[in-house]
Amino acid sequence: MQRIGFIGLGAMGLPMAVNLLAKGYPVIGFDTQDRPAFVQAGGRVTGTVKDLVAEANIIITMLPNGPAVLEVAESQVLAHARRGQVLIDCSTIGVPSARKLHAMAADRGVAVLDAPVTGGVAGAQAGTLTIMVGGDETVFAGMRDVLLSMGSKLVYAGAAGNGQAVKICNNMAAGIIKIAISEAFVLARQLGVDEKIFFEVAAAGSAQSFALTRTCPVPGLVENSPSSRDYTNGFATNLMLKDMVLAQEAAMASGAATVLGGAATHLYQLCANAGLGERDNGIIYQYLSGKSA
Ligand code: NAD
Repeated sequence: MQRIGFIGLGAMGLPMAVNLLAKGYPVIGFDTQDRPAFVQAGGRVTGTVKDLVAEANIIITMLPNGPAVLEVAESQVLAHARRGQVLIDCSTIGVPSARKLHAMAADRGVAVLDAPVTGGVAGAQAGTLTIMVGGDETVFAGMRDVLLSMGSKLVYAGAAGNGQAVKICNNMAAGIIKIAISEAFVLARQLGVDEKIFFEVAAAGSAQSFALTRTCPVPGLVENSPSSRDYTNGFATNLMLKDMVLAQEAAMASGAATVLGGAATHLYQLCANAGLGERDNGIIYQYLSGKSA
């Protein structure tokens, strides 16, 4: 069986690694923070990425952003990698960083898949993520079982970087929709409508969306939404902002007009500037309602 090294055991990486363990893969983990839950689930941690790379055939990264992935890849993974190893980056890092990663690894004989995910922390826990993959199709075919241990839907998106291209388009839309849902709740409250009543109608009507029924920004309406646990262990506003900026950069470079994407980016920036960057992005609802809980 393949031996997997997993780097980045945060809100997403931890449940993804735990699902690989549950499928019987030996998983060696590394994170700059202590992650006792990984060890409790049967994982083994290493003190250095060098040791992880020495033991693993497949290395998965789930890190915050492009600079972190490129830094870890260049100075720690690829510096010790062997020809024939596969590096799967599941982080959201944008197209240029992904293509740089593919090129850096090719120089070392290491195959890369850019394999960002969607489905949130709940999807990572349930193993129901959708994973969109860019890179060599034969390498992708060889990694299907590993990827299906973390997600339930795989989409091959094409050449190097295309997984990231799909992901930032998805997240730009998701970021806009989260704000649309939040504004509707703010308006409903201003009009004296109970949040539960609006939720009931919208969830059964044309505003139905992941942002409403899975990651509802209003606390107490959806049990496993990060808002219902005080906007913790979700998708941080800073990470949402990073993805919105990646989409805006791509839009500028490609000539796509993304007016609402631009406006949404500025709103998340204001929310982060208000000191809410570490909270789940549903906090935008509190920010828009003037409460900033
Ligand atoms: P997170 O901040 O919870 O986890 C990142 C982990 O990486 C942390 O445990 C951190 O300690 C670790 N880390 C940072 N630098 C490191 C380094 N140099 N070496 C080793 N470990 C390091 O973030 P997350 O929410 O798990 O997101 C990870 C990635 O997944 C991001 O790119 C994000 O955009 C993407 N993503 C997140 C969600 C979500 O709902 N949270 C959904 C889809 C995609």
